[in-house]
Amino acid sequence: MQSTVSYPDVLLFIDGQWREGHGHDGGAASQPIVNPATEEVIGTLAHASRADLDAALVAAGKGFSTWRHVAPHERYKLMRKAAEILRERTEDIARIMTMEQGKPLPEARLETQAAADIIDWFAEEGRRQYGRLIPARAAGVQQIVHREPVGVVAAFTPWNFPINQAVRKISAALAAGCSIILKGPEETPASCAALVKAYEDAGLPKGVINLVFGVPAEISSYLIPHPIVKKITFTGSTVVGKQLAALAGAHMKRVTMELGGHAPAVVFEDADVEVAVKLLSGAKFRNAGQVCVSPTRFLVHEDIYSRFVDGFTEAVQGVKVGNGLEDGVRMGPLANARRVEAMEALTADAVAKGATLRTGGARIGNKGYFFQPTVLTDLPADARILNEEPFGPIVPIMPFSSTEAVIEEANRLPYGLAAYAYTTSGTRADEFARRVESGMVSINHHGLALPEVPFGGIKDSGYGSEGGTEAMEAYVNTKFVTQLGV
Ligand code: NAD
Repeated sequence: MQSTVSYPDVLLFIDGQWREGHGHDGGAASQPIVNPATEEVIGTLAHASRADLDAALVAAGKGFSTWRHVAPHERYKLMRKAAEILRERTEDIARIMTMEQGKPLPEARLETQAAADIIDWFAEEGRRQYGRLIPARAAGVQQIVHREPVGVVAAFTPWNFPINQAVRKISAALAAGCSIILKGPEETPASCAALVKAYEDAGLPKGVINLVFGVPAEISSYLIPHPIVKKITFTGSTVVGKQLAALAGAHMKRVTMELGGHAPAVVFEDADVEVAVKLLSGAKFRNAGQVCVSPTRFLVHEDIYSRFVDGFTEAVQGVKVGNGLEDGVRMGPLANARRVEAMEALTADAVAKGATLRTGGARIGNKGYFFQPTVLTDLPADARILNEEPFGPIVPIMPFSSTEAVIEEANRLPYGLAAYAYTTSGTRADEFARRVESGMVSINHHGLALPEVPFGGIKDSGYGSEGGTEAMEAYVNTKFVTQLGV
């Protein structure tokens, strides 16, 4: 049954206590939270002061001393319990997420349940952090490789997936024996706080997870250089990621960066056009296109181009846009006013440069951050949308004539997060997978982001993985011990 829970005010979680914030220097101690479908203020969010951050740092230091010595099997049991709690609370959490973020309720439910699966996966992985014994050259020597938790982690997560961006970082850190200070998303804080609460209610010791909010730049510039913090993990834009990676580098901190993308979606002439239209239109408008792996540059072979454009435009016109709490809504509002402005600017730029607007292109109504699902064709190479991450429901479709040309176009941008292709040729699929410069490639379906598979980019899309066995690497140090028996 659909939940009727009301939206909560959100506090900081420091040293096992939910508390008010004291506000950043000279600033407010809280900020309003806005429902993007109605523009109504639905709650308030506590802001951390420098003193609050210091308290979180001390708590995380103590939390690490406790948690690193908890046996992996005990950590596993507690994490599995947190996953169960999250599953039980899915309806309430999903409603809260839709109210603060805008995504349709079924997507919010899926995100919450997927988060529980991610916790389960990392709980299991934590029990398999094996070291190894390396055969020695000399008699009596024992060479051992240990894997030890990195220490206190500082994590920064954005508003597009309020729970899932956070759960990957928290759960990998906890499975490895680390503690964490998470700066959650200020615009969508309550569902993220509900994730932390599930861990609290599962019995996590004090200080192992600390959740803060405030002014992002103030918090990151204080936490990253701080000697208590040993590892930085950030999900967000490439511009901010580069600043944070530079700061982390200056202080020799380990880093994972999950940044922007501009995924090519290539439809070869031998593809099943109807299937490509159906799957790509489904994937593109998920979370209103505010997804780092969203298919973005649609590249369609000239022989099937008009069939694809007509079919895709028709599919797009059938996408029902509305308040994500209402039944049957496929696409909610954008998460904030900045995204609407960005969509208007990208569309205006393309049209001014000669692009054809096939459908959409405008804001819907004057309340709520709704934007029409939009299709553009006949774009010049310098259209901004072909070069900047749109992070919204706009689809530029370009024709191509040869495999060489399309691979060159797919690899043209500095991004390298996700790439998609549709083809019925195994040889062509293999060639695309080999030659495309991307951390993740999905062919003939959209199969990214499962807990057990690697998730991460190359080039300006960042480095490190947030899924699969690779994700644990980010939270462990290797220690080599060689010992001659005496
Ligand atoms: P933004 O670049 O200001 O912020 C992106 C995220 O980074 C937010 O969560 C924000 O709180 C955080 N952030 C910003 N400055 C920070 C700092 N100095 N220290 C720590 N955290 C900081 O932009 P925005 O308007 O929120 O989003 C716009 C762009 O961000 C999008 O176009 C997209 O490219 C990118 N983005 C990417 C993802 C992703 O999943 N990779 C998620 C959200 C946003």
